[in-house]
Amino acid sequence: MSAARALPLVAILGRPNAGKSTLFNRLTGARKAIVHDEPGVTRDLNYGEAEWRGQSFVVVDTGGFEPDPETPLKKQIQEQTRLAIEEADVVVFLFDGKAGLAPLDQEAIGLLRRARKPTLFAVNKIDTSAKEVQRYEFFRLGVEEVFPISAEHGLGLAALLDRIVASLPQTQAGAEEPDQAGALPLRIAVVGRPNVGKSSLVNRLVGYERALVDAAPGTTRDATDTPFSWEGDDYVLVDTAGIRRKARIADRLERYSVLRALRSVDRAQLLIHVIDALEGASAQDAQILSYALRRGKAVVLAVNKWDLVRPQERDAEGYRQRVFARLAFADFAPLVFISARTGLGIGELMALVRRASSSYQKTVPTAQLNRVLQEAVRAHAPASYQGRQVKLYYATQTGTAPPTFTLFVNFPAAIKPDYERFLVHQLRASLALDHTPVRLHFRARRDERPGRRR
Ligand code: GDP
Repeated sequence: MSAARALPLVAILGRPNAGKSTLFNRLTGARKAIVHDEPGVTRDLNYGEAEWRGQSFVVVDTGGFEPDPETPLKKQIQEQTRLAIEEADVVVFLFDGKAGLAPLDQEAIGLLRRARKPTLFAVNKIDTSAKEVQRYEFFRLGVEEVFPISAEHGLGLAALLDRIVASLPQTQAGAEEPDQAGALPLRIAVVGRPNVGKSSLVNRLVGYERALVDAAPGTTRDATDTPFSWEGDDYVLVDTAGIRRKARIADRLERYSVLRALRSVDRAQLLIHVIDALEGASAQDAQILSYALRRGKAVVLAVNKWDLVRPQERDAEGYRQRVFARLAFADFAPLVFISARTGLGIGELMALVRRASSSYQKTVPTAQLNRVLQEAVRAHAPASYQGRQVKLYYATQTGTAPPTFTLFVNFPAAIKPDYERFLVHQLRASLALDHTPVRLHFRARRDERPGRRR
């Protein structure tokens, strides 16, 4: 089940104007931008999915991050590089073949070398073979292999992509994620903008003592993930080390924090997405959430710092409506008001986590599934297709985590997004699949394909 897998992450690094965005667009294709037509989501994102020779991965253009006017460029590049080194599986470092080598390049190379992260070096803007000679300047850096490319004209990309794919970790697919429901503790990521209270929440869930032990340098166990139990159920919080550490610029900058969130999302099955009660949901929240849903994760929204809202001013229903006006595409996700500081709502939060996790991993009996679908079609039939009636023959569950159903129909192309949403809504309501994304695939039943008849 590809949805449950962590996609490897490839980060494109390089100084401003090296051509990172152009390369990014080449690798992902505009149509593959992860965040697309969800309302409330901005389009100028710099991460997307790419595929080469059957291998999918996520590409991140670090250079697209907004410059922080208060931080010197050099410092920003160091932070950006360090973050990419930590979070990415493979780094593609891009030189500017027209402008030549810059001191900033040398510095980044130094950092990359010390990190021992798989790094590929490419010289961009090598548009004709005559100019290819320019890349030799880059060999003097002691880099073994340099890929001459032109992101703009699409030259040299196959060789680079071959190497990217060969450098990706091979064990990633399916290694961490249980396919059987409940076989391993549910993996939870706590995500949200800087300062919303993620680290306070993690401490509250895990217990302060445990948190301190994990944070101590030199502890031998892998302190990235933290197991905990809640009322007899076992869970794992992923990437807690990154949440607790925030001395550095990268951890405080909003745009950078998205990169970390993406990684955590991919490693988890369920997100606790934290929103600051005083700030509300932001475009950044929409981006992370939209990515999470496209990756098929379950989500519980937690509005934290509710203690800061005076009791007489607490309008939970109004608040909920404002959040979902912004995050309409996630309207099935439960929302709970909490205070990591006082403990308010934490029990309720974990009750929702448990419920979402059970929906997420649920297996529905086929007969029941088909009964619900037939009823749905009877209540509201799909619009006809090129003058012909659209028929839904049969459905079967083809995956869990999230629940995935394949529906056999005569004309898959006839099923429009709003009809699909209608069906999903019916399934959620009738099969206790609340609080989880639900995926539908439509397949043509063979003997009914257009052109095959008579
Ligand atoms: P993170 O960056 O998301 O990990 O946020 P932190 O957990 O570090 O919290 C940021 C600030 O908000 C800290 O000063 C916390 O003490 C404070 N804080 C976190 N949760 C709450 C809460 O529920 N209520 C109040 N009043 N303050 C909180």
